[in-house]
Amino acid sequence: MKCLSVLGYPVHVDSPQGLVQAMLAGLDKGEHQHVITLNPEMLMRGESDPIFASLLKSGDIVLPDGAGIVWALRHKGFPVTRVPGIEFSQKLLDRAASSGESVALIGASPEVNEAAQENLLAQYPGLKIAYAHHGFFQSVEERRSVAETCARMKPKYVFAALGVPGQELWIQEFKTLFTEPTIFVGVGGSFDIWSGLKRRAHPLFLKLNLEWLYRITSEPLRLKRVYKTLPMFVVKVLLEKVRPETKDEYPHAESNL
Ligand code: UDP
Repeated sequence: MKCLSVLGYPVHVDSPQGLVQAMLAGLDKGEHQHVITLNPEMLMRGESDPIFASLLKSGDIVLPDGAGIVWALRHKGFPVTRVPGIEFSQKLLDRAASSGESVALIGASPEVNEAAQENLLAQYPGLKIAYAHHGFFQSVEERRSVAETCARMKPKYVFAALGVPGQELWIQEFKTLFTEPTIFVGVGGSFDIWSGLKRRAHPLFLKLNLEWLYRITSEPLRLKRVYKTLPMFVVKVLLEKVRPETKDEYPHAESNL
């Protein structure tokens, strides 16, 4: 697994299988694995919030999830391929279902969370859901008690769909409650898709790295988020100097990804 950088934020680049292997190696060392699904909005939030920046920089696996991250790396000469968090998570669900390891699903509305559980159980025979809870906590006490109960159930994989930065902060704050090495993934809107209440973009959009465009057109409120952050992200990337040695270290070859 190679670690590249966009504006000083790590991005791990490998085939999905290579990323899974790296994650398992970390678990074998007894370390929790926090998987971050990086996009330009998150990165720009880091630029104005040092605590969030250091959280992003300490991610064990940082996936090139956002099309803007892939663009930034390609601009620097690294022919990376997008690894959407939802697809990576589905690989983990596959592993969990076939190995008998359990998962937890934290986040989204109660209806979405329940529908996602039902669909995932139907889609991944053998999947064990150790714990599930919606993500609209009424108090800080509830936010913590959900984490405590989840930790007691000892899931191997915890999928947190609490939005950015809620999911990353929840994982960071509570991962030490988990006594066994655990994989945590901030999955954003994935439960909405798994519930069947929202659809992913047409495969052609996915192939062209235009899922973001589909999401903006189907949820116009997103435009405000993108408009606020994307232009500055592009300017910063264009002004960033590439360290030549970083480029040499990279094995390139898209087929490798
Ligand atoms: N969400 C939640 N609690 C909150 C805020 C959001 O559970 O306090 C859920 C929301 O219902 C959605 C997910 O978090 O299922 C975030 O989705 P979004 O599309 O904003 O994430 P993105 O993919 O853009 O990061």
